[in-house]
Amino acid sequence: MTRTIPLAAGIVALDTRMAGLDELVAAYLVPGANPAVVETGPATVATNVVAGLESLGISREDVAFLVVSHIHLDHAGGAGDLIRAFPNATLIVHRAGAPHMADPSRLMASAQRVFGPALDTLFGSLAPVPAERLRAVDPGDRVDLGGGRSLEVVDATGHAKHHMALLDSESGALFVGDALGVFMPEAGVLRPATPPPEFDLEAALATLERFRERQPAALYLSHFGPAPAGRDLIAEAEERLVRFAEIVRGAMRETTDLDVLARRLEEGTAPDYAGVRERPDLLAKFETLNAFRSSAAGYLRYFQQHGLAP
Ligand SMILES: [Zn+2]
Repeated sequence: MTRTIPLAAGIVALDTRMAGLDELVAAYLVPGANPAVVETGPATVATNVVAGLESLGISREDVAFLVVSHIHLDHAGGAGDLIRAFPNATLIVHRAGAPHMADPSRLMASAQRVFGPALDTLFGSLAPVPAERLRAVDPGDRVDLGGGRSLEVVDATGHAKHHMALLDSESGALFVGDALGVFMPEAGVLRPATPPPEFDLEAALATLERFRERQPAALYLSHFGPAPAGRDLIAEAEERLVRFAEIVRGAMRETTDLDVLARRLEEGTAPDYAGVRERPDLLAKFETLNAFRSSAAGYLRYFQQHGLAP
């Protein structure tokens, strides 16, 4: 049974249970005359998404749009399978990511290099999406859900060049993808998501400023769920992106060895995890999606490419 979590204005979060782990990867139903599903989760959980929607009374024929914040496999890996499962759906994807959805061979080859044998159990294989079922979008474009409701594409680069957020006209909620990082509700800790090769610190900070200007009524994270009331996750994300940068850049004065940089990041942020030290399962979940090594590698590449290496 796929767990569903009702949110504002008919929006429902679905826990896709990627790799059997709960509260790690969310998909969202946004209702309307033409309903949209925001994020597909990886291919390994496509059947969970279908079952979750069915439990909400959404049949396979009903789904009009699949919208992905970006093409990483934990967000879009199920798109090929779901586009087959939902015969009337169109996939909405950032223009820079669209070619990889039609032909995922390069994306899958690079994922294979990064994840190795874990690729199959974590994400599975992204099936190609037929070009006629794909719509490439740019910031400012709108996805029309009918009845006056729409999702506006908001520029949200930083995590990747093809990353976008979606602003719901009805609720004012913003689907932020990975722009804020990974927030695990049970842990109560936000960790920036800064993977190579496209992480861009300046762009990520500009995206957070853009989010603040839009004054969203709620922030819905792909990992995982709504930002809790009383927490300013935009400010927390800014503070952490800057702090991570200082730690990695400081360590780069001595070495560019990734293992060392990752260890410094882990040591330097240890106080953030003081409340969950007794919960190795939660720490392992962070590492599954968003390892310190990946964060360190993203910053290292960013600093080197921008001539900012000390
Ligand atoms: Zn992600």
